[in-house]
Amino acid sequence: MYDVTIIGGGIIGTAIARELSRYKLNTILVDKENDVANGTTKANSAIVHAGYDAKVGTLKAKTNVAGNAMFDTLCKELGVPFKRIGSLVVAFSEEEMVTLKELYEQGKINGVPNLEIIQQEDVRKIEPNLSKEIIGALYAPSAGIVGPWELAIALAENAVENGVEIRLNTEVTAIEKNQEGFLVTTDEGHFQTKYIINCGGLFADRINNMVNTPSFKILPNRGEYNLFDKSVGNYVNSVVFQTPTKHGKGVLVLPTVHGNLLIGPTAEAVDEPRAVETTIGGLKYLKEKAQKVVPNFPFSTVITSFAGLRAKVATNDFIIEESKESKGFINVAAIDSPGLSAAPAIGKMVVEMLKEIAGNFQGKEDFNPNRRPVINFMELSNEEKAAMIEKDPRYGRIICRCEEITEGEIVDIINRKAGATNLDAVKRRARAGAGRCQGGFCGPRVMEILARELNVDITEVVKDSKSSYLLTGPTKSSKHQEDSDQLVAVSQDK
Ligand SMILES: Cc1cc2nc3c(=O)[nH]c(=O)nc-3n(C[C@H](O)[C@H](O)[C@H](O)COP(=O)(O)OP(=O)(O)OC[C@H]3O[C@@H](n4cnc5c(N)ncnc54)[C@H](O)[C@@H]3O)c2cc1C
Repeated sequence: MYDVTIIGGGIIGTAIARELSRYKLNTILVDKENDVANGTTKANSAIVHAGYDAKVGTLKAKTNVAGNAMFDTLCKELGVPFKRIGSLVVAFSEEEMVTLKELYEQGKINGVPNLEIIQQEDVRKIEPNLSKEIIGALYAPSAGIVGPWELAIALAENAVENGVEIRLNTEVTAIEKNQEGFLVTTDEGHFQTKYIINCGGLFADRINNMVNTPSFKILPNRGEYNLFDKSVGNYVNSVVFQTPTKHGKGVLVLPTVHGNLLIGPTAEAVDEPRAVETTIGGLKYLKEKAQKVVPNFPFSTVITSFAGLRAKVATNDFIIEESKESKGFINVAAIDSPGLSAAPAIGKMVVEMLKEIAGNFQGKEDFNPNRRPVINFMELSNEEKAAMIEKDPRYGRIICRCEEITEGEIVDIINRKAGATNLDAVKRRARAGAGRCQGGFCGPRVMEILARELNVDITEVVKDSKSSYLLTGPTKSSKHQEDSDQLVAVSQDK
């Protein structure tokens, strides 16, 4: 019997799991995918928003501003890349300057620190590569950028280190209320739990409807991106937004925490919660819109494209509440943007709600907020590098040439708690395959390492989702070989 079951291992489920791991509770997190952070959390703009954008009084506004303030400590404890680089919302007309003033006022009421409206010359000082047509900007120094999946993975790892159980490849298919709480049915069997926290992202409405009357509908909304090479990674220094319209925040240009440049997203309502394909039209639109802000940008430096899906609802605010029909069932749903920024605050908020429902929980004396540091070999001094190689020669073997990642680092992230089990899971944790060649060179070698460390056949190593097989069997098996194999089989029969 579990005390708490968290359904969904995105940034929201993992933030709640880590928060719950502070208490003496039997907590389990289940996810249908083969890794945490394999839903919307792996495909977004990676911005820790300042919080001026959300309407006053909404859950989005409250949790965004509170969450933003928690990032420095949290990312330090978990060893996750985070940079408070500030954001600019740029205006091309006096009409847009009026919108900036409204955002400024809204931000002040929401509690965003140090907001400022700046004029053309100051914009140019911060961002010399932006269009000369820009007449001013809203500057928010508290905005930042983070590694979104790295944060979710680190939260999951730290939660496991503090006693939470994570069960992957486990899809919740039914939920039944009973005397003790809930009977959860999955494609891997049943279990009993007292409380449920629904963090199912794009599927949160379906999970809610397993036990409650439908009360909200998730409306998937796709955002496409282009990611550019590190050679243009410092084209802008901050997160650059265009003035928002009724269609949303528009196309933005920003550096990533690892030194690439990101342009996106589009905003398009789609029917399918799995429609993460990119489109020619979407990527063309990105270029057209971004050119207004960065007219001379070399778009040919693109290294990959991807898309993520926002879990929107008609009311346009987060749903964080206990179900009216099922005591102990908390929906944490419709967490579209700024869900990543709000996640640390949502984690705290949900645990407080659960305490109200269940009575106070006993804290753990031995809770450890710090994750074992992740080794970034190339950032070590020459002496440190030599010492590492002396201890483990695998740190002397470069596997990913683009990002300069060693075998030692890959082995480490496979063997951690909530470690990598597939090719993209290695990429998300150690960046092998995240560079210019996108795994063209290192992919097969990473697969060999995964097969060896996980003790599985290499044909079982997948790219990302459960059935995304990369190999079907050995090549170059000749007719002659097959015939002689058959001969062996025949002679053994005799
Ligand atoms: C284009 C785009 C740009 C964005 N940009 C930003 C940004 O810059 N800053 C910001 O703050 N936010 C941003 N967001 C929002 C942010 O990415 C999301 O709020 C956040 O990732 C949502 O996390 P989640 O945990 O709710 O959902 P997810 O990450 O989708 O996790 C849900 C999990 O539930 C699992 N699941 C679903 N059904 C089941 C089931 N039946 N059984 C078991 N498991 C199940 C899924 O496998 C998945 O892992 C953006 C979103 C998009 C799409």
